[in-house]
Amino acid sequence: MASYFDEHDCQPLGDGQQPNHMLHLARLIIDGGHFSDEELAFAFNGERAAPPASKQIVQSLPSVIVTSEMEGKCAICLGPYEEGDRLRKMPCGHTFHHACIIPWLERTNTCPFCRQELPTDDPDYEEYRKHKARAKQREYEIEALHDSMFG
Ligand SMILES: [Zn+2]
Ligand SMILES: [Zn+2]
Repeated sequence: MASYFDEHDCQPLGDGQQPNHMLHLARLIIDGGHFSDEELAFAFNGERAAPPASKQIVQSLPSVIVTSEMEGKCAICLGPYEEGDRLRKMPCGHTFHHACIIPWLERTNTCPFCRQELPTDDPDYEEYRKHKARAKQREYEIEALHDSMFG
């Protein structure tokens, strides 16, 4: 008998793995569904939800046309890549159907698979992102200092 996961064409979660809420939301969009900013923030673990990806960046994402040798499937719609499908390649290396990833990037700048962010056209958010990166760096430096004194 087929297991639940075979029937639903998804992988069981490994130890400590969280369900990917972002992929779930990305699927909602391509089904013509909507979600609120609160739901988006939840997918971002309660952090500030990221604004849309920069239009220019989205336009410059490389297009890939699937050839007969290519295998794989789109993590958003879970459909296998078929010869002639148009994909877009993200800077993180993940590919999705053009028709699946574009509506998502019009909503938020994050790869729904690995959460790597694309630049945005939002100066406030870019400032916030820099601030977040600096705070992380400081945390790391304090830890390193602590280790050197007490380690
Ligand atoms: Zn797709
Ligand atoms: Zn990715």
